[in-house]
Amino acid sequence: MFLTTLICSDEACAQELEVVVSHALDALDDSACACGCTHVVLDVSAWERAEIRALTPA
Ligand SMILES: [Zn+2]
Repeated sequence: MFLTTLICSDEACAQELEVVVSHALDALDDSACACGCTHVVLDVSAWERAEIRALTPA
């Protein structure tokens, strides 16, 4: 899983959003901003479920 940060390609808009994707980063190509412009990927990072990082044995 990846946590991607997208930003609108229109500088005047620059709307950011975060999207969690499984593996098909290509799917982000279809992502469009509400203003009508396309999104570009700003950042991609590994994403883990929060509960995985829950209590570790002492
Ligand atoms: Zn926009």
